[in-house]
Amino acid sequence: MYAFEYHRPTTLADATSLLKGAADGKFMAGGQTLIPTLKQRLASPSDVVDLSGIAELGGVREEGGRLVIGAMARHAEVAATSMIPALAHLADQIGDPQVRNLGTLGGSIANADPAADYPAALVGLNATVHTNQHTIAADDFFTGMFETALNDDEVITSVGFPKPDKAAYAKFPNPASRYAIVGVMVAQTGGQTRVAVTGAGPSVFRASEFESALAGNFAASALDGLSINPDDLNSDIHASAEYRAHLVKVMAQRAVTAAS
Ligand SMILES: Cc1cc2nc3c(=O)[nH]c(=O)nc-3n(C[C@H](O)[C@H](O)[C@H](O)COP(=O)(O)OP(=O)(O)OC[C@H]3O[C@@H](n4cnc5c(N)ncnc54)[C@H](O)[C@@H]3O)c2cc1C
Repeated sequence: MYAFEYHRPTTLADATSLLKGAADGKFMAGGQTLIPTLKQRLASPSDVVDLSGIAELGGVREEGGRLVIGAMARHAEVAATSMIPALAHLADQIGDPQVRNLGTLGGSIANADPAADYPAALVGLNATVHTNQHTIAADDFFTGMFETALNDDEVITSVGFPKPDKAAYAKFPNPASRYAIVGVMVAQTGGQTRVAVTGAGPSVFRASEFESALAGNFAASALDGLSINPDDLNSDIHASAEYRAHLVKVMAQRAVTAAS
């Protein structure tokens, strides 16, 4: 690990001004990705601005029929919520107890790992990301592999989830890390059907053919004759693109059955 200046501000205003004043600063949430990256010397920030002392970034609340989750809410806190069981179930399947007790919603989505679970939740549930600068629809937030619509000095403050009429998440986990080889969130919210896929491609995506079929008939059998094109999917030591394409359909059907 290279040397850096460590800061632990207690207000969002101080956090952003510390980052702006740094030569090459980095925010830190639970450190679950950042610390291993620093240990491996894959990054050498001049300053690390720890967000864990900022009370306004924490907490989970219901607000006007929406579940609003603070960026610093740990996965274990989300797993303990009851308003959207599909979301709680997804959070409960992330990593292991240590990761769930330190990893945060904001850190996960800012990192935008192609195999992370939350991107499927945000896109499938049609969530809204709130930052200190913007409000961004989930569909516009994830822009590529490890890429988001965030500016360098932008802090995610919370994410708002509308309550779906029906939803479920099904995941085929990597048996070692528990990251998603493929994970699918299926949701019906106010007459709209969404199928969001993580793990399979460079970034989360919506399976639009599946969405159309389920809009007419919300049953696993509605997907029987459909398939996912493997051409743009990931292929690695864990699974080929063809196997991932197969898993997307199987996970989507399992999620529909669980949500019905
Ligand atoms: C062993 C292991 C297993 C895991 N398994 C899974 C899994 O099954 N599924 C899964 O989805 N994830 C998994 N993860 C990832 C984990 O869940 C964390 O969410 C992820 O590592 C991000 O960690 P963090 O919240 O501690 O953020 P950090 O590591 O502190 O930060 C990550 C990045 O986000 C930025 N950032 C953090 N907070 C904010 C914010 N509020 N605004 C703007 N930028 C911010 C940081 O600058 C940094 O670039 C696993 C991780 C480990 C170590």
